[in-house]
Amino acid sequence: MSGLAIMGGTFDPIHNGHLRTAVEILDRYGFSELRLIPCFQPVHKDRPVITPEQRLEMTQLAISSDERLSVDSREIDREGPSYTVDTLRAIREEIGPDTPLVMVLGMDSFLSLPTWKNWHQLMHFAHLLVVSRPGWEPDFVSELNAFCENCRAASPHELQCAPSGRIWFEALTPLSISSSMIRGLARNNESIAYLLPEPVQNYIQQYQLYR
Ligand code: ATP
Ligand code: MG
Repeated sequence: MSGLAIMGGTFDPIHNGHLRTAVEILDRYGFSELRLIPCFQPVHKDRPVITPEQRLEMTQLAISSDERLSVDSREIDREGPSYTVDTLRAIREEIGPDTPLVMVLGMDSFLSLPTWKNWHQLMHFAHLLVVSRPGWEPDFVSELNAFCENCRAASPHELQCAPSGRIWFEALTPLSISSSMIRGLARNNESIAYLLPEPVQNYIQQYQLYR
């Protein structure tokens, strides 16, 4: 598929749940590139304990084995609260009006959408590709149901036919991994092996993060 896929997150730290999501989407949709965009300051979470630069560095370490993955540091460079709508607007300006732009997000993030800044405008700039996440069932709030009715794609192919404005739900290999779980294990001095790439695990050990 021509077009650009992006995935935002706190990546505190990045883990195999994020990375499997990215590669499964790349394989199924054939995008040439998926950009991971670590936020500077999450809007709806406590401020991370480690620095944005450390989260950025771990994200860079994590993608070295797949050349279709890249890291976009614009939210960290921009500083301040990271509003997705601002990021999408900026990317849209760069890629022009015709290129499909697909924002990948987990079901948990999707269910929180009505709390995001100017959330109705997001699909003016991009398609939404909502992926399954264990523990998060699509028990839609009515506001989201009404929203989906207007823009749900009839097939994933529709995301290629327009630059933005459609929504599609995709079931992926369920991986019950979260950054909070990894931070909890590290805090308790338990192993975090096999939940995230080895270079990221080594980085966490080297700098004694999350202790
Ligand atoms: P935390 O526990 O700190 O909230 P997290 O694991 O949810 O961290 P985020 O950085 O908040 O990670 O998530 C970034 C994006 O990746 C979100 O859209 C989220 O829904 C998605 N995501 C994270 N983990 C998974 C997973 N295991 N499966 C599918 N999607 C995921
Ligand atoms: Mg999260």
